[in-house]
Amino acid sequence: MSNDNKKMKLQMIAFGPVPSRRLGRSLGINNIPPKACTYSCVYCQLGLTPKMETRLRPFYDPEKIREAVFEKMESAHQSGESIDYLTFVPDGEPTLDIHLGEEIERLRSLTDKKIAVITNSSLIWHDQVKEYLNKADWVSLKIDSVNEAIWRKINRPHRSLELQTILDGIVEFAKHYRGNLVTETMLVRGLNDNENQIRSLAKWMQRIPANVSYLSIPIRPPAEKQVQPPDEDTLIRAYEIMSAQNHTVEYLIGYEGNAFAFTGYAEKDLLSITAVHPMREEAVSELLNRAETNWSVIDQLIEKGIMVKKTFQGKTFYARKLYAPRDHDILGLRME
Ligand code: SF4
Repeated sequence: MSNDNKKMKLQMIAFGPVPSRRLGRSLGINNIPPKACTYSCVYCQLGLTPKMETRLRPFYDPEKIREAVFEKMESAHQSGESIDYLTFVPDGEPTLDIHLGEEIERLRSLTDKKIAVITNSSLIWHDQVKEYLNKADWVSLKIDSVNEAIWRKINRPHRSLELQTILDGIVEFAKHYRGNLVTETMLVRGLNDNENQIRSLAKWMQRIPANVSYLSIPIRPPAEKQVQPPDEDTLIRAYEIMSAQNHTVEYLIGYEGNAFAFTGYAEKDLLSITAVHPMREEAVSELLNRAETNWSVIDQLIEKGIMVKKTFQGKTFYARKLYAPRDHDILGLRME
């Protein structure tokens, strides 16, 4: 292979570092070529899965993965870019890779950076997969539905997979995992976003000690063009239902934000917080007081189409308007 080809291949395996709200600056690792997956989700931004598979198998030589990450880390270092996490986030399902455990170990010998894996959870019942994931510092598990029929409609799994086996596997894994465990649920309008669905999900999720339960929505062109994100009311409702079951819930809705950083600039703080969750009226009032300003800030954000006012169970909320104009185009703000 020519040097140029080799370089190109290594670049396809490791990318970034890219800013990630969950992981700071994350160097991505593509340990699966597009698109090997156990699912063919209706919202997948990579399109349909041509041939679903569930057998663990080799994809790349683990040494190539180590080499690709090393090269990316070197060039990030030279350009003064920091890296917080090395993240397995491929164009497919990372746990299909039979070498995942070995790859994590090789990266450990290379650096003390933390290692994250974002998985669709479908193979978590497999002992080998549990063993690999146990080696990571941060694991994100996809749980879109705990209802068999809905799961089949939304994730369109390989015919050999069963939801109950996966859910039991998640509980078993969570019992022993010592790293940072989070979940991610993609809400799709008309599929898994009704109140009953969210209540059963929230109830089931009490069985696992996730540090954060992320709610996401389709924000990129989906595999099936009829897929739509839920509206703002539904997102607020989902947030409230899950929070009421003692989950720490955060949105992943395409805006960067940090609910915990107070800068004193009311607009910036409001946008930052509502990128993560809706705000109750009392919380907005408190923030405006702290920033020594008034409700005209909110009025302007609503007028500009960035924020909406909603009521749920008698309480008033302020939330991000989905598909709002880009914040920094309007306010001259950058939200990273
Ligand atoms: S699990 Fe991920 S990669 Fe696989 S089909 Fe679903 S969204 Fe796409």
